[in-house]
Amino acid sequence: MAWLRGNLHAHTTYSDGVKTAQELLAEYEALGYDFLAITDHEDLIASSYWRALPRLRTRLLLFHGVELNYPGLDQHIGRVLGDGDVLHVLNHPARYRLSVAETAERARSIRRDGLALDAVEVTDTGHHRPLYASPEIPLVKIATDDAHRPPHFGRAWIEVDASRDRDAIIRAIRAGDFRLGFAPGGD
Ligand SMILES: [Zn+2]
Repeated sequence: MAWLRGNLHAHTTYSDGVKTAQELLAEYEALGYDFLAITDHEDLIASSYWRALPRLRTRLLLFHGVELNYPGLDQHIGRVLGDGDVLHVLNHPARYRLSVAETAERARSIRRDGLALDAVEVTDTGHHRPLYASPEIPLVKIATDDAHRPPHFGRAWIEVDASRDRDAIIRAIRAGDFRLGFAPGGD
């Protein structure tokens, strides 16, 4: 199996990104990526979003997704859809200035509510925030661009040891079979 490079958190003009979905795909194709998740904000998308995503044409392996506003907390959750499996990500704790202990408690409380969180971002809009790589946080640690506009594209990525299959990639992430990458100057 090859290492597949991707970004699991990105926005388009369906919410507050500046690129159309097709333009965003072209950006990541030009970067040589293997996969991309489009995860527009749930409170900004229209119902046409879910109809439009399957019509996109790309050589990338595209994940459909959404960024949820977790009720009762000022917390965004990434939901990345495979074909049968789903990945849930505690997004950018750095942006909320959470301590490691607060992040761990937030992860546990969301899991107690019944949402099966898998991962936490150790990035904020692609900038590395290694504080959150702490083993105290009971989640796998991933890096994303949270891409909204240039220069976010290609700042931070994940390389997954998996076959080119959405569910296989999600399972490999959950199992920790991946490595992170950061562009020079991106942290
Ligand atoms: Zn986002």
